[in-house]
Amino acid sequence: MNAPYRAEKRRYDYLIVGAGFAGSVLAERLASQHGARVLLIDRRPHIGGNAYDEPNEAGILYHKYGPHIFHTNSEQVVDYLSQFTEWRPYEHRVRALVRGKLVPIPINRTTLNKLFDLDLQTDEQAADYLASRAEPVDEIRTSEDVVINAVGQELYELFFRGYTRKQWGLDPSELDKQVTSRIPTRTNTDDRYFSDTFQAMPLNGYTAMFEKMVDNPLIEVRTGVDFRDVRDEVDADHIIYTGPIDEYFGFRFGKLPYRSLKFDHQTLDQEQFQEVAVVNYPSEDVPFTRISEYKHLTGQEAPVTTVTYEYPSAEGDPYYPIPRPENQALFKRYEALADATDNVTFVGRLATYRYYNMDQIVGQALATFRRIDDKRRAEQPTAVAAE
Ligand SMILES: Cc1cc2nc3c(=O)[nH]c(=O)nc-3n(C[C@H](O)[C@H](O)[C@H](O)COP(=O)(O)OP(=O)(O)OC[C@H]3O[C@@H](n4cnc5c(N)ncnc54)[C@H](O)[C@@H]3O)c2cc1C
Repeated sequence: MNAPYRAEKRRYDYLIVGAGFAGSVLAERLASQHGARVLLIDRRPHIGGNAYDEPNEAGILYHKYGPHIFHTNSEQVVDYLSQFTEWRPYEHRVRALVRGKLVPIPINRTTLNKLFDLDLQTDEQAADYLASRAEPVDEIRTSEDVVINAVGQELYELFFRGYTRKQWGLDPSELDKQVTSRIPTRTNTDDRYFSDTFQAMPLNGYTAMFEKMVDNPLIEVRTGVDFRDVRDEVDADHIIYTGPIDEYFGFRFGKLPYRSLKFDHQTLDQEQFQEVAVVNYPSEDVPFTRISEYKHLTGQEAPVTTVTYEYPSAEGDPYYPIPRPENQALFKRYEALADATDNVTFVGRLATYRYYNMDQIVGQALATFRRIDDKRRAEQPTAVAAE
């Protein structure tokens, strides 16, 4: 017998909030591997999350939320993403404008030679030079301690103090040591920013890769839709939430602090603006932290070029969790609530209040899928027996 007609309310197996890497990878896996019906929403007018790119009016492919460079040591992540894109080999190089000179960053032998008019020829000479400038700190607690301990006061001031103050709105002495402990110094002349085994850009851009990922009749994508407005309406067995964790719980313990950025995208009537994709401006005399030029990343050829100036800001979209112990403690309170919430999986950078690179988020999403898959397999024999 036919059911009486009712205004149709579609049922989904999953409602996925956020169409960045975390949400899109999970949508793809659940639809393609489990045949699940997925509603994937994002409050922005597009998919791709922070990695979104698009051609601007001049036809230059640019990254709306700042330059995203793909690099990883994970073969599993490369194999997975390669189903949806080809790659353009690209090794990232960054320069810093210091005392009027463009020098490699991370600091390497070339940086020292150029900046201090030296002629260091070997790794050993560079290591000795750095050691002669280092000012050992007894107990390393802050970011300032990390850098002064490694390279001394002058290099700290030239490269780190101003940049960090601008980036975080805090002095390095107020920031956890983890913020700068990741920045390497080198004694050779390798000027690649990353040392990962795989460094490349998606050949036709990130958005094209995302479009392919979610191109499945079982995935319904709705952009410009906020979870807040549909949470009581959508009929889904399970929610995967990749938005801010404090927002999910109505900020009941207070807001998790983030640092934001303002992006000033400019198209210039010249073929090339700078010698590498990214130039950092550590000096506090200029208000922005870096300028990025996309054609270096994409290999696009055109008579004009597009660059982005980044201005750190206290207001705006949440980009960088501020690494202070009290913020972690606040996150832990939200995490405990999340752990006690049935039928909602929290995944991605905003739900876990940590800065992650794209490959780490893909890895996290694939691991989440495996857990869901294991649970399903464990439950399946019972379900079959009950039929
Ligand atoms: C300036 C900058 C540069 C970066 N550069 C690099 C780089 O070079 N290399 C690299 O590997 N990583 C880089 N990253 C990190 C990279 O952006 C992240 O790893 C990646 O975007 C994380 O994916 P995600 O899905 O967790 O989050 P996101 O990409 O942020 O996706 C989350 C999505 O959820 C949506 N959302 C949130 N709340 C709601 C809601 N209530 N309702 C509906 N939708 C919602 C958001 O709109 C967003 O689109 C950079 C980050 C920044 C900020």
